[in-house]
Amino acid sequence: MKVLSVASECVPLVKTGGLADVAGALPGALRGQGVEMRTLLPGYPAVLARLAPDAPVVLEVPELFGGTGRVRAVARPDLPLYVLEAPHLYDRPGSLYLTPEGGDWPDNAERFAALSWVAARIGSGALADWRPDVLHAHDWQGALTPVYVQQMAPGGPRPPTVLSIHNIAFQGIVPMARRAALRLPESGATMDGYEYYGQISVLKAGLVSAERLTTVSPTYARELMRPEHGMGLDGVLRTRAAAFRGILNGIDTALWNPGHDPAIAAPYTGPEGKAANRDALRAEVGLPDAPGPLAVVVSRLTAQKGLDVLMAALPTFLDAGGQLALLGTGAAETEAAWRAAAARMPGLSVRIGYDEAFAHRMIAGADAILVPSRFEPCGLTQLYGLRYGTVPVVALTGGLADTVIPASPAALAAGVATGVQIHPLSEETLRNGLLDLVRLHAEAAVWTQMVQNAMAQPVGWDRAAAEYAALYQEMAAA
Ligand code: ADP
Repeated sequence: MKVLSVASECVPLVKTGGLADVAGALPGALRGQGVEMRTLLPGYPAVLARLAPDAPVVLEVPELFGGTGRVRAVARPDLPLYVLEAPHLYDRPGSLYLTPEGGDWPDNAERFAALSWVAARIGSGALADWRPDVLHAHDWQGALTPVYVQQMAPGGPRPPTVLSIHNIAFQGIVPMARRAALRLPESGATMDGYEYYGQISVLKAGLVSAERLTTVSPTYARELMRPEHGMGLDGVLRTRAAAFRGILNGIDTALWNPGHDPAIAAPYTGPEGKAANRDALRAEVGLPDAPGPLAVVVSRLTAQKGLDVLMAALPTFLDAGGQLALLGTGAAETEAAWRAAAARMPGLSVRIGYDEAFAHRMIAGADAILVPSRFEPCGLTQLYGLRYGTVPVVALTGGLADTVIPASPAALAAGVATGVQIHPLSEETLRNGLLDLVRLHAEAAVWTQMVQNAMAQPVGWDRAAAEYAALYQEMAAA
């Protein structure tokens, strides 16, 4: 099975969000499933500089949205790549999508239409020695792949496309006047096509054209089909419900491995190993030794993450004997509010900044990790928490709902609980959840069982890879 992944970013080369983690992890994880995945990536300056600039050109595409594109094959054993060198589109300063001043490049739609165009060419057999059975496109940047592949092979044999949504907030919306420039058929300019409130939605074009659709957790897939989360595309997704599913992301279990983590005080493989890390963390963040649970937050400080609700519920938790250490960055006023809270609440320690090694020490040393998000497509920190035996306290939304087994009486009786769930998220429910945490933590046998259960959860990429492999098989057989 050969799959071409069409991604605008990919770890370890270029990353702005979770898409890059998925695109970087899947090829390796799929190899064990008998899937050969190659990745088509734009030739940003950072990518071309890191890869051999003299990698062989395997395809030349003249007239690629204003210039010539060249596809270079880079035979990285861990991550085989096709890099689309198109200086007129990608040789620019700034981040992947933004000008140095921070605005969108005005021709972003064309820049990534070009990526999809070349993906469709490869899907249509343009390479001499490699023809994919399935195309896997990501987000709006890859979303025209199924549109173009249908255009290039009308009625003829062509590989099916799966389009994955990592971030529904970005849809590639441009004026209808750009239709011809984007090589979109006029017939598609309808409500059932790519038309979106009088404009073009590149993402929608893909959502109505791809054979299959996925997002990063089963619960988020259901949520995206509702108006609260669908950002105007819930109706389209409802019409595609039968083709749409959620596949949970994994985490890099080599990088996040409590048994071999160079960042933490004392690597460990079981619940008893956490004590030394907890002591070290308390010392590092300046919290006194105490019998209650030490909780952490590692997060962007944005409204999505529900930390305003946490700040309101926090005094109850601290009064009950809990402690909290927070690491995060966000808007200046939010950062200031957390600093001020730390000054008035003993038991709360706040560090503003982005620090990966410290994030490892926090998650290793804490008893619990708090993720009270308003929405969360998949979420990574609760998965790190599970892996490190750091009990997640999560809102019942998106991937958080799919990864934590709540400590209900039945789950506790069966000995399978891994965390605490809050639903619906409010100051009161969060306060109650935090009091549950204090109670559970005080029952040594119950707590040890929960920590053990958490550490035993499968959180790597194997499960996701098996699901994607099965999906590709279904698609190729259809
Ligand atoms: P989102 O992508 O919405 O920010 P996720 O939970 O999916 O949320 O991923 C967040 C990632 O960023 C995690 O790897 C988390 O550890 C990391 N992170 C967030 N804030 C910080 C910080 N201040 N310092 C270190 N790592 C952070």
